[in-house]
Amino acid sequence: EDNEEMGEEYLFKIVLIGDSAVGKSNLLSRFARNEFDANTKATIGVEFQTQVVEIDGKEVKAQIWDTAGQERFRAVTSAYYRGAVGALVVYDISRRSTFESIKRWLEELSTSCDTAVARMLVGNKCDLENIREVSTEEGKSFAEEEGLFFMETSALDATNVQTAFEIVIREIYNNIS
Ligand code: GDP
Ligand code: MG
Repeated sequence: EDNEEMGEEYLFKIVLIGDSAVGKSNLLSRFARNEFDANTKATIGVEFQTQVVEIDGKEVKAQIWDTAGQERFRAVTSAYYRGAVGALVVYDISRRSTFESIKRWLEELSTSCDTAVARMLVGNKCDLENIREVSTEEGKSFAEEEGLFFMETSALDATNVQTAFEIVIREIYNNIS
């Protein structure tokens, strides 16, 4: 059936969170435009990108929000989280400190959102195997403890980027239908 004709519309707000330079903006540009930028500047002007995905024959619009670099100052605002139904919580597998920040990001997420949020823990930069500081097992068991989906990705070589977003979108869809 045609959901536009049926008057149904699915618009899911998904937020990207995690420390500065873990690769949030590149995950989004890889997902939305299949692009990677080796020298990303702080995002200016673009608040979110909308990507259309088909699930069970239905058109779902994923509105994915990226920070404008506010995370550097720990100043991500409540407006950023408002209405979010999904989140990719990102760390960099080659920088242990970014993994240690995840607890704080999860706390901020849960205090800022009152509805259930589909959450995926993302260990990005898995192409940097030679300088890895967080093992896959560690990421996986932390995610299990916290009840999160888990995936290691590379925005650089595109490993699992599409899949990570799609799992979150599918989970949101399952939660509401
Ligand atoms: P953000 O601050 O979290 O938005 O991070 P950016 O997307 O701006 O990326 C920060 C830096 O990490 C940039 O130099 C990117 O080119 C680099 N980067 C992002 N993703 C990857 C990845 O998957 N692998 C590698 N090797 N570098 C990445
Ligand atoms: Mg960014």
